[in-house]
Amino acid sequence: MDPNAIIERHPKFYFPSGDIVLATKLAPQADDSEGPPRYQVFRVHKFLLALRSTVFSNLFADADGAASNELSYDGVPLVELHGDNTQDFALLLSYLYEPESSLAFRHHDPNTPITVSGVVRLADKYLLEPLRKRLISEVVQDWPTTLREWDIQQANIHAISAVTTLRDAPYLDRGPPLCDVIPEPASAIVFAQEFVCPEILPAAFYRLLQIPFDDDWSLRVHSAPYSSQSLARWSLLDRDNLARYIHGLHAVESYIPDSRNFVFMECIPKMWEGEPDSPCYEYVRYMFSVLGRRRGGQAGRDPLRWLADCEDHYGISELSEKYPKGLCEDCCAAVALQVPVERQRVWRELLPKWFQLE
Ligand SMILES: [Zn+2]
Repeated sequence: MDPNAIIERHPKFYFPSGDIVLATKLAPQADDSEGPPRYQVFRVHKFLLALRSTVFSNLFADADGAASNELSYDGVPLVELHGDNTQDFALLLSYLYEPESSLAFRHHDPNTPITVSGVVRLADKYLLEPLRKRLISEVVQDWPTTLREWDIQQANIHAISAVTTLRDAPYLDRGPPLCDVIPEPASAIVFAQEFVCPEILPAAFYRLLQIPFDDDWSLRVHSAPYSSQSLARWSLLDRDNLARYIHGLHAVESYIPDSRNFVFMECIPKMWEGEPDSPCYEYVRYMFSVLGRRRGGQAGRDPLRWLADCEDHYGISELSEKYPKGLCEDCCAAVALQVPVERQRVWRELLPKWFQLE
């Protein structure tokens, strides 16, 4: 360590009873890039760190075994932690010293992937496997991995969004903006790829489709109308991820379910015999075009939602006006049966394909 180095004690993790001082280099400030290097020092307890990590245990054994002229500070050995980011290291110490409060993450916090990334890297370096697993699971559990979980989260988002946009209710606490209480997809995607938790990628990419490209995270500081909108940190996506997003966008916009699966056998037109479309078949095809592609925009990019709306097709005025007779009884049953099957197919088979995640 440079003998002229400026040393700053960490305001929290500098315990008089600590028996080792760990130093991390601080990034030079803009105005003193020519000056001596600055270090943040942490005076901590060897046993606590060594108990959790064999890397620390070996590091301390080396420091103890070194000759007495080795570096020391404030009467105890000093070890420089090369390459460790100061803020991340302080956060790592808070997880080790105060797990009850520091590991209490807020559910659906959009900042979690960004906050914990640096510490997960340190946990990798120091072989703190239980902490590493715990931090990754905090990000993973904010994302649905089943269609049921997706539906519940969507219902939750719509409920929050509705409350945020309520007018004529001055007594109502509208709470924080929507984007602060729902997970943010771009940071989750980058996190999932670096720390290998691919199970959250389909939901995160699909959520991106529901966010207009103009709705960037930078708009978060503005109030209405963004307080009720989902925002994405678009700039975090690299070229490959943008390509996945665009591929998914094209795929979802050209997706249309096979109408033959949604009508009873008797009502499937025998096209090879030149038979015209049956009324039920026409009805189903029109239903998909009204609810799906024709709706366009963000709504058209959410087939899981518009397929669910098909379960209540008799409530769609455009459909009942054009086809007042509706469906025959068998086809009605076929639609009710097939819609959940098709939604599962979209979730399980099509999303990974659309976003090239296989
Ligand atoms: Zn029919």
